[in-house]
Order: sequence, then C-alpha cells, then structure tokens
Amino acid sequence: MSAADAVTDSLQNLRAQFAGVREGRPADYIPQLALADPDAFGLALVSMDGHRYSAGEAEVPFTLQSVSKPFIYALALSLLGLDEVSRWVGAEPSGEAFNAISLEPGTGRPANAMVNAGAIVTTALIPDAPGDDAFRRILHCLGRFAGRELDVDEEVFRSESVTGDRNRALAYLIRSTGTMPVDPVLAVDRYFRQCAIRVTALDLATMAATLAYGGVNPVTGEQVVSAEVAARVLAVMATCGMYDGSGDWLLRVGLPAKSGVSGGLIAVGPARFGVATYSPPLDSTGGSVRGHAALETMSRRYGLHLMLNPALPGSTVTLVTTADDLPSAPSAGHERVLHEQVGVVVAQGSIDFTAAERVLYALDESGPDGGPVVLDLHDVTSVDSVALAMLLTGLARLVNDGRRAAVVDPNGLLGAMELVRERTGQDLPRHATRVEAVEGSARALAGEG
Ligand code: GLU
Repeated sequence: MSAADAVTDSLQNLRAQFAGVREGRPADYIPQLALADPDAFGLALVSMDGHRYSAGEAEVPFTLQSVSKPFIYALALSLLGLDEVSRWVGAEPSGEAFNAISLEPGTGRPANAMVNAGAIVTTALIPDAPGDDAFRRILHCLGRFAGRELDVDEEVFRSESVTGDRNRALAYLIRSTGTMPVDPVLAVDRYFRQCAIRVTALDLATMAATLAYGGVNPVTGEQVVSAEVAARVLAVMATCGMYDGSGDWLLRVGLPAKSGVSGGLIAVGPARFGVATYSPPLDSTGGSVRGHAALETMSRRYGLHLMLNPALPGSTVTLVTTADDLPSAPSAGHERVLHEQVGVVVAQGSIDFTAAERVLYALDESGPDGGPVVLDLHDVTSVDSVALAMLLTGLARLVNDGRRAAVVDPNGLLGAMELVRERTGQDLPRHATRVEAVEGSARALAGEG
C-alpha cells in the first residue's frame, strides 16, 4: 500500500458506485461494436507528472471512434495552421447529433471538427508526406499522444465500412458544397480506419493528459503538438465535444471532453490531469452512460469544474513590510530609523501574469512613500516571459518615480534587465541575500551608497 493508492481508491469507488447502472446499450449501427462486453467498465487518470492510476477494465482494448477527432484536429492544426483549417471546418457548436448534416449555410463548411461531417473533412485535410501516407501519419500521431504504437482493429474497420452509408453520404454532400479536399470515398475510408484504431482507457487518459499538459505527453516527455494547438483543441472540445449534450456537459461537469460510440470518454483538467473511462452502453446522445455518470460525480466530488476557482493558487507575495521588522534589523539608533524607511516585498513560487500583478501592487504598498524598496525573489521558482516584462516595467516605473529599487535575485530570474536600463538609464542593484539588499538600501539612504 502506498499513499498514492488513495487516488486509485477514488477511481475504484467511482467504478463501484456506477458499475451496477443498467441503462443504455452498446452501439449496434456498427455491427462489430454490438459485440462489446456491456459490463466492462474501466477508469484511468494520468497526472501532469505522468503518474498513472486505474480501476477496472482500464487495459481492455476497444476502438477510438470519435475520441480520435480532437487528436486529428490537433494534427491538422499543427500541419496546416488555424487559418487554413478554419477555411474548411468551423468551430461553432452545432447542437446536433454526431451524424447530423451539419453544414454552414452559405459556405457549406461543417460546423465543427467534433461532429462526423467536420471530422471527415479534418481527416481529409491531412496530406500525404514523402514515404508516409496520410493514414500512417494519423496512426503515428495518435501513438505519440498515447505514448505507444497503436494498431487498427480490422474487423471493426470492415464492419463500419460495409454499413457506413450515412457517413459516405455526408462526404458526398460535403463535396457537393465544395468543402471536401479529397475524394469522398478515400476520405471516409481513412476516417473509418482512424475510428477503428485500438486503445485502452489508460491510453486515452494519457492522450487526454497530453492535451492537458500543453501538448507534452507527461509519460514519455515528448512534445506531440504545441501548447497553442493543445489549447485550441481543448476549446473546441469544451464547446462541441459532447455533441448535442455539450452545453449541459459543460454546465454540470465543466471539463473539455470527447465521447465515442464504442464507449470511450475522455475529459481534460487543463494543467491538472487527463481522465478516461470505458463502458460500452450508450445514452441517446451516443455517449457512455456510466462514463458520463462517473465523470460528472468525479467533477463534483473533487471540485474539478473548470469555472470553479474558489481559492487563488498559493500566495505569491509572502511578506510586505519594512526592513526594521526583519530579524536582521538593528535594535535601535540611527541604523534602525534607516531600516524603517526601506520597504521589503518577498515573493515565492512561479510568477505568471496574475502573480506579477500581485507583486507589483505589493511594491507600491511597501514602505513609506518614495522610500527605497527591496524585491526579494529568493523563493521564486520561475518567472514566465509575460511576468518578466511586467516586473521589469514596474520596477522601471518605480525608479522613474524616484524610488530606489533593489532586487534579491540569486538565480538571475530577471535576466540582464536591459529593459530597466533602457527605461531608467541605470542598473538596478542586484543582491544574493535579503540582508545584503537591505543594508545596501539603508546605506544609500544614509548617503553612503
Ligand atoms: N465511427 C463513428 C461514426 O462515424 C464514430 C461516431 C462516434 O464515436 O460518435 O459514426
């Protein structure tokens, strides 16, 4: 038993809670899918550190079906860019069923890449490459998301091929509007193959976690798509991933998600986790009944709704004070009076846009008006590029307002600070320790610095 088994326990509890649900039936419009075991129920979760947790039938193989769609959309965005992909496929929720004739009046573009019409076009957009045909690229890309080589379930592929008239009809219809980039037969064949790629719930959780982790597979460490592409895919999953149930899903569960008719379901907690379930019986929107119930409960139980941010993550500014309050301050005399004039702001953790705003506000609040200020970044672990520009601009403003600013930056997080020099004509004093920085400021006040 390890402590992290508590995470596995929570998946097992969800499984136990919903395993007995008997509603729904496996899809049968693709005859091979009707053969799935209706009792199979697997759950898996992958963290941003690549830790994998699972319960039940998490290693039972099944076909991706529509869960392939966000990943092929990611591949298309990576290869062609958003503008080109958007010429062919929209990004508006259709509010319609997965196999609807969902084409925009006027342009004939499918509404989005999560419904069949849009997915078939998206698949058709993937170009062949020298020595690598489009399908091999698709298979390879999905494998990088999963962190292992995947293969096709030929029986499911054949089963959909011989019965998939509606998708074929959709493809012809799309060609008639002028928005089908390749031959419709070829497009649908490739799409059926992509839907028949075999995965497990654990694979799906890894794929979802890759989208959560800015396009980096947290298990293999490979950058599969860019962070920008991953964010865009999540946006479309959030609004369109659950077909005509997308609005209700976002309302209740609050996580970008994608369902498939074989019973797979993924959900993504951006920068937090990827989760997947497998259970073949479906509801009327073509989503897994148990998967839906389990993820809805999980979101509520663990407070995972994307719009729910009750507490700010960790505090950035740990201390705003004057130097006389520090343990190192002299106990009396002129020295102490000088220390009373020096403002001190201590920050910690990783600094992004929101955290930088807090640091800048604290600098303004610190110490007496116009007095020198020390910004201590000793406990700061990282400063992103946006925050860096904000901090440097803020420090330059302080200096231009006549305040003396010094930084404790033993790890050189503020870089060469050219921006400050450019804007103020001087370098900021940089120190290895807070005591040194405060002493420097006090000496400057005394006219010795
Ligand atoms: N291959 C299936 C179809 O095109 C996928 C549908 C789904 O999983 O929602 O009908």
